[in-house]
Amino acid sequence: MKSERSIKLKKNSLKYRLRKSPEAREMKLSISRRGSLVLTVPKKASYGAIRRFIVSKADWILERLDVIIRIDQGKAVRSSRKDYLKNKEKARKFITDRVKYFSELHGFKHKRIRIKNQRTVWGSCSEDGSLNFNYILFKMPKDIADYIIVHELCHLKRFDHSERFWNLVDRTLPGYKNIKRKADEIVFV
Ligand SMILES: [Zn+2]
Repeated sequence: MKSERSIKLKKNSLKYRLRKSPEAREMKLSISRRGSLVLTVPKKASYGAIRRFIVSKADWILERLDVIIRIDQGKAVRSSRKDYLKNKEKARKFITDRVKYFSELHGFKHKRIRIKNQRTVWGSCSEDGSLNFNYILFKMPKDIADYIIVHELCHLKRFDHSERFWNLVDRTLPGYKNIKRKADEIVFV
């Protein structure tokens, strides 16, 4: 027996097919050839147990599924593991160039830059000064990518979202507020 279900996972609403099998002895996740998520469970598995199982596998799932990201009411970019592996170095060059541009102008000092295939995170900054960026930035409108990069660079100087932090963002990227509004409206589908 198969049925379509959906579950909310780290801000993504995720569809999956539930397959109850008398032969299944434990729960198992797989990705079908068409790219959809299939969960096979023993016949008597409860909804609570199924939910807990999916949530515990969230990272595994989100790393493998294609994600469509809607920007600017209409424009959309697609992110997938395959696309990530194909474009990672291109994305690294784009992101590193922008980081260098803002760093030279405003004196930001960072350590390592990592390019990741994250699902709901565009960028992050760790306290040791290394930066992580989502490879998908290189497909985004340039102003949004710049805002995300500048946001993380400013965290190198201020590790919070205080008024002083936002003032720093404003000095680095004047008029950032309109861009931030657009960035905040991005939806994962
Ligand atoms: Zn922040």
